[in-house]
Amino acid sequence: MSRVINDNPVIVAGGGIGGLALALTCHELGVPVVVLEAVAELRPLGVGINLQPNAVRELQALGLGDDLNRIGVATRGWSLYSRHGGLIWNEPRGVDAGYRWPQYSVHRGELQMTLFRSAVERLGPAAVRTSARVVSYTNTASGVTIEVEDGSGERATMNGRVLIGADGIHSAVRAQMHPGEGEPLWSGHLMWRATTEAPPFLDGATMVLCGHDSTKFVAYPISEAHPKTGNATINWLAEQRFDLSDGYNKEDYSRQALVDDFIDIYKGWSFSWLEDLETLVRGAERIYEYPMVDRDPLPFWTDRSVTLLGDAAHVMYPVGSNGASQAVVDARKLGRAFVDHGVGAEALAAYEDEMRPATSEMVLRNRNAGPDYIMQIVEDRCQGVFDDISDVMSNEELTDYAAGYKKTAGFAIAELNASPEVIPPGSRAVVNQ
Ligand SMILES: Cc1cc2nc3c(=O)[nH]c(=O)nc-3n(C[C@H](O)[C@H](O)[C@H](O)COP(=O)(O)OP(=O)(O)OC[C@H]3O[C@@H](n4cnc5c(N)ncnc54)[C@H](O)[C@@H]3O)c2cc1C
Repeated sequence: MSRVINDNPVIVAGGGIGGLALALTCHELGVPVVVLEAVAELRPLGVGINLQPNAVRELQALGLGDDLNRIGVATRGWSLYSRHGGLIWNEPRGVDAGYRWPQYSVHRGELQMTLFRSAVERLGPAAVRTSARVVSYTNTASGVTIEVEDGSGERATMNGRVLIGADGIHSAVRAQMHPGEGEPLWSGHLMWRATTEAPPFLDGATMVLCGHDSTKFVAYPISEAHPKTGNATINWLAEQRFDLSDGYNKEDYSRQALVDDFIDIYKGWSFSWLEDLETLVRGAERIYEYPMVDRDPLPFWTDRSVTLLGDAAHVMYPVGSNGASQAVVDARKLGRAFVDHGVGAEALAAYEDEMRPATSEMVLRNRNAGPDYIMQIVEDRCQGVFDDISDVMSNEELTDYAAGYKKTAGFAIAELNASPEVIPPGSRAVVNQ
C-alpha cells in the first residue's frame, strides 16, 4: 500500500551528472531538494568524458574547481588525423584557446562520485536516496505527486513542488510525458571504450581523433603521468559503422567486449604520435561496447510542474564531447529560472524555452555533422592521403567548421567569455506556493 513520505521539495529523478549538479544548485539557492536514484549504490561507472569550459565555469561556481583539478586533466589541444597519420587539424583547447575556464578530460564515474560526495556533505545524506526509482507522476494543484519504488519493489508516494526528470537515456519521466516514443535510436555505429595505463602522447593533454565516419579511433589522457611509472590513464574509443539490421542490445552501457572483436579494422593504421595502437588497446583491463544511440528532439519537455534535464531531455551522440557538459549547463539554467520566476511551473517553462531549441539543434547536428566531420570530408576528397592538408581543404573551411560547432554548443570563445554569470553569487530562489 502507498504511503506519503515527504512534502514539498524539488524532486530530482536520477543521481547522475545532471541530477547531482541540480541538487547542488538548489542548495546554493536555498531551495529544498531531494534526489531519488534508482540504483542501490552509486559506483564510479563509465569511462572518460569531457567537460567543456561552459560547464567547468558552472562547476567552479559550485565550488568544485579544486576537485576538477584533482580528478581531471586540463585539456590543452584537439587534433584530427587521417587514418594514414596525416594531420588534418589542430587547435588549442581550454585556457590555451583563450577561454577564461579550462576544459577537463575526466573519468565519468569519478566526476559523478565527486558530485555525489559534495551533495551528501552539503545537503545531508537524506537528500540523496538510493534504491529509489521514480515510476510515475501526477500534476496536482500544489505541484506534483510521484510514485517511487524501493529495491524490494515496495512503492510509496511523495509530494513535491516540481519534479525534474534527470533520469538519463531511459527516462521514466520522459516515457510518461511522451508515451509510445520507444527505444533510443541506433545510428549503426558501435563504440568500444576503455582506459589503459600507458605512456602519455604528444603534450600529455591533447585529445586525438583519427580516421573518418565509418571507422574512427579517439584517445586522450584523463590523468597526469604517474611519477613512478611514467604512465597516464589513457581513455580510448574505437568506433565502427555496422549494418543497421543487426540486433544489438542498444541500451546497455556496460556490455563487455574483446579486443579481437574489432582490432582488425585498424590494420595498416599508423601515427607518429602513438607507437602502437594495438598495444594500447590490448593493455586495457576491461573493454565496454557502447552502441551509439540518441533520440529525436522533443516537441516539448515540460508538463506543468514536471520537466526534463540532461540526457532525459536531449540525449545526443557523443561526438562533440558535450553530453555531460550540457547536463551541467541545464542544471544551472534551471537554477537561474528558479531565481527569476520562483520554484514552480513558470520557471520550468522559461527553462525549456531557453534550452530546448539549442539542444535540439545539437542533437541533429551531432547526427550529421559533429565537429569531427571534417575527417569524413578529407576521406571523401583524398582517402586520407595527403602531404599538405591545404591541398585538400582551405584553412578557412577548416576554421569555419570548428567554430560553427562551438557556437551551437554554447562554448564559442568570445561569447562565453563575455557572457554574464548564469547565477550571480548570493542569489536565492523563492518556492512558490
Ligand atoms: C552507468 C553509466 C555509465 C555511463 N558511461 C558513460 C561513458 O563512459 N561515456 C559517456 O560519454 N557517457 C556515459 N554515460 C552517460 C553520461 O553520464 C551522460 O550522457 C551525461 O553525463 C548526462 O548526464 P545525465 O545526468 O543526464 O544522465 P546520467 O549520467 O546517465 O544519469 C542518469 C541517472 O538516473 C538514474 N535513473 C535512471 N532511471 C531512473 C528512475 N526511474 N528513477 C531514479 N533514477 C533513475 C540512473 O541510474 C543514473 O544514475 C553513462 C551513464 C551511466 C548511467
